[in-house]
Amino acid sequence: MNKVDYLRISLVDRCNFRCQYCMPRVVEWDYINKQELLTNTEILTLLTHVFIPLGFSKFRLTGGEPLLRPGVVKLVQQIASLPQTQDLAMTTNGALLPEMAQNLYNAGLRRINISLDSLQAETFAQIIGRNGTIWWEKTWTGIKAAHKVGFNPLKLNVVIIPGLNDGEVLDLAALTRSRNWHVRFIEFMPIGNDDLFNGRGWIPSEELRQTIRHKWGLEASQVTGNGPADVFQIPGAQGTLGFISQMSECFCSRCNRIRLSADGWLRPCLLNETGQMDLKTPLRRGVNLATIRKQVQKLLEIKPEINFQERDPGTNGGIYSRTMSQIGG
Ligand code: SAM
Ligand code: SF4
Repeated sequence: MNKVDYLRISLVDRCNFRCQYCMPRVVEWDYINKQELLTNTEILTLLTHVFIPLGFSKFRLTGGEPLLRPGVVKLVQQIASLPQTQDLAMTTNGALLPEMAQNLYNAGLRRINISLDSLQAETFAQIIGRNGTIWWEKTWTGIKAAHKVGFNPLKLNVVIIPGLNDGEVLDLAALTRSRNWHVRFIEFMPIGNDDLFNGRGWIPSEELRQTIRHKWGLEASQVTGNGPADVFQIPGAQGTLGFISQMSECFCSRCNRIRLSADGWLRPCLLNETGQMDLKTPLRRGVNLATIRKQVQKLLEIKPEINFQERDPGTNGGIYSRTMSQIGG
């Protein structure tokens, strides 16, 4: 059984993008009220008194868009300076990195994943549900800023959607040939926008690998992460290609992570809502932290039985009560 020592912390459910695969197409979108978000102090209390004593040492900040959270740089600095933090990373859409990359780095963040689904500004705009080429420019400038200040590894997350960006697999993979960047293809998952998923479908990682193999060849990489990606390399490339294949190749038995939402819900599996637990209410009611820790420990004990393949159909009439932007990926 895998040791669960990696916590993904969603800092905010808001986002400055409206990625088609992540959020449903609705005009009005209910965000979590500010008072319902865990405060920095509450996050640090949970880390120090609940998660770290249970063996957690790796943390990833995500969202929504984590850079929209006021005080994010301070929080990075506080988590990075906890003596038990072995690894602190962030997943972001990168649009705010041009002005924030240096401060985040100075605060102690070293690893960053930036989502980049297209190298074409118009396609990018279509995917992220925003008008204009300015957004691609912001994200691309953000990637370059992160590279310049020294983030390493610098990973680019790509979700390939048939008919939207499947013609760019080679162009995106080619980014790794002369740069020490790591492109990770994530299979499109049925969460966030069912209409898009049912309408367009998803492409298995092996199909993407075939396309890349055919052009340049592909070899297993010496660099492997501690996550779910299968890592490859174009021969002679500086960077690597990761494939996260939760749809075609279940990796639930290797899962080492659990997720904390911005409003304090702990979720044992991305695609299964069984067992999810509210930590904020007991925390705010002053329940003893040792009691909360015991409840989390119990959830960790049953986590291996909660997996994606045998998932419940969602607790909300067959629809997950939370979208990807609310869980954090
Ligand atoms: N806003 C940040 C970003 O986009 O990087 C962080 C949050 S986002 C929910 C985290 C990751 O989830 C992104 O890399 C995004 O591409 C991925 N994602 C969102 N919806 C997805 C879906 N339906 N299937 C696969 N990946 C998805
Ligand atoms: Fe926002 Fe990230 Fe979801 Fe896109 S994938 S809508 S950037 S949370």
